[in-house]
Amino acid sequence: MDLKELYRDVILDHNRPPRNFGRLESAGAGGDVLHADGHNPLCGDRLSVYVRMNGERVEDIRFEGSGCAISTASASLMTEAVKGKERAAVARLFDRVHTLLTRHDAPADATLGKLAALGGVREFPARVKCATLSWHTLNAALERGAATVSTE
Ligand code: ZN
Repeated sequence: MDLKELYRDVILDHNRPPRNFGRLESAGAGGDVLHADGHNPLCGDRLSVYVRMNGERVEDIRFEGSGCAISTASASLMTEAVKGKERAAVARLFDRVHTLLTRHDAPADATLGKLAALGGVREFPARVKCATLSWHTLNAALERGAATVSTE
């Protein structure tokens, strides 16, 4: 299966239905929920990412919002990929996905698993921001959770 087919299949699969769709509430024993909103004005994608941390580990993550198939699939893939990972591992994964999406000569990275399919978006440069939106939003949520940062 070539990248184009893989891309199409994964994008379709993660739209019906997207994984981890919905919101997380702060109530309960699980601790506070970190949250950020993302907007991609180029396409009109809007999404919110909710993360519950257990120490440095992503205990649970969900997203909601409305956007194109690429932004929805990317967010769905992201939630599956980062759940259970340590904050530092999430940051490394973000770097690799960002490279995959933005560098045309990025080498194939078999360890990315299904996320590698997002590389197909490079065929459509105008849509790269659709695919990166959820990752930037996750980053914002995690940074806002740092004890020293308050934007509110
Ligand atoms: Zn979009």
